[in-house]
Amino acid sequence: MDIRIGNGYDVHALAEGLPLWLGGVLIDSPIGCIAHSDGDVAIHALCDALLGALALGDIGKHFPDTSDEFAGIDSKILLSRVTSLIRKEGWDVCNADVTIAMQRPKLAPYILAMRECMASVMDIPVSAVSVKATTTEKLGFVGRGEGCEVYAVVLLKKQCDR
Ligand code: MG
Repeated sequence: MDIRIGNGYDVHALAEGLPLWLGGVLIDSPIGCIAHSDGDVAIHALCDALLGALALGDIGKHFPDTSDEFAGIDSKILLSRVTSLIRKEGWDVCNADVTIAMQRPKLAPYILAMRECMASVMDIPVSAVSVKATTTEKLGFVGRGEGCEVYAVVLLKKQCDR
C-alpha cells in the first residue's frame, strides 16, 4: 500500500479577551489565541501535517498571513481547502492524531466535539481523528499560560484508482 506520513506543529500566543477556537470548536475561555486568522492552532498544525505528508509546503505558503483574504478566516475553511488539495493529488486521509498542550482552560469537555468537527471537515470517520490534551505541568511558555502548542500527525493512503 502506498502511504505517506506527515507531521505538523504550531504555536500561538494567548491573550485575555480573545475567542479561543480549537479543532473548529469555540472553547469557553477568558483567553484566546493572537492570530491573523481565527487562531485555531489545532487546525493549523493539522493542515501542516497534511501538507507535509505530500511535501506541499506549509500553511503559510498556501494561506499567507499577509493576505487580507485570510484575515479572521475560519480555519475550518483552510482545513477544507487543504483536504481538497490532498484528494486532488490522489490521496485520502487514513487518520489524524492531534496533541494540544495548554495549561488552561481544561479541554476535556471539548475533545469529542473537536474530533467530530475536524472529522466532518475532512469527511472521514470520527474514529479516525484523535485529539489529546495535556498541560506541561506549569513548565515553559505553555505552563505559564503564555501560549498554546499543538502537534499533529497524519497518515495518507494513495487512492485505489490512482
Ligand atoms: Mg497558526
